[in-house]
Amino acid sequence: MTSEKGPSTGDATLRRRIEPWEFEVFFDPGELRKETCMFYEIKWGTSHKIWRNSSKNTTNHVEVNFIEKFTAERHFCPSISCSITWFLSWSPCWECSKAIREFLSQHPNMTLVIYTARLFQHMDQQNRQGLRDLINSGVTVQIMTVSEYCYCWRNFVNYPPKEETHWPKYQPLLMMLYALELHCIILSLPPCLKISRRCQKQLTFFSLTLQNCHYQTIPPHILLSTGLIR
Ligand SMILES: [Zn+2]
Repeated sequence: MTSEKGPSTGDATLRRRIEPWEFEVFFDPGELRKETCMFYEIKWGTSHKIWRNSSKNTTNHVEVNFIEKFTAERHFCPSISCSITWFLSWSPCWECSKAIREFLSQHPNMTLVIYTARLFQHMDQQNRQGLRDLINSGVTVQIMTVSEYCYCWRNFVNYPPKEETHWPKYQPLLMMLYALELHCIILSLPPCLKISRRCQKQLTFFSLTLQNCHYQTIPPHILLSTGLIR
């Protein structure tokens, strides 16, 4: 049932939610906002209870902040499984990827799923390798799609009354381009997504530059689904 009010009245999660304008600018795949925002969910064992919170980067990156907070606050039985889901506005840099792998290796009963709106400095070889290492160590990394945006809006944003379904309608094409680029990273292909900024960084352009190796390795239906090639 759609609620008539926003999440405000009597909602215990309110203080953990961010404001709609923040969500709009932080998670827009077309905006290259510097700071990173993270929403996270933690689930223990077979419990259906989900612990949710949001966080932004400080002098440390959000991922490192999460790990430090989690390690300092939690006293848990290592035999109980723990599922963690992150929704990140930027994907982890290589240093965070390394820290995440170390953290997970100390907690064998823990699983981590990462949804990200954008790929952080995706041309950087170390960042690409960092994401591959994460995935190879069992972490699920995916680009946020419409359903994750909608989910985050409902669960992490202090949306105005009656606007439960009014999450920002970002361009699906950008989500698709980032997903394609993540595909290239996983397959160790060169970058195909080019992002350029012009006019004092006011304008951001996204374009596809496909080489032979891309055509040979990426399934045609994935390339065609971007609508940018025929
Ligand atoms: Zn980082």
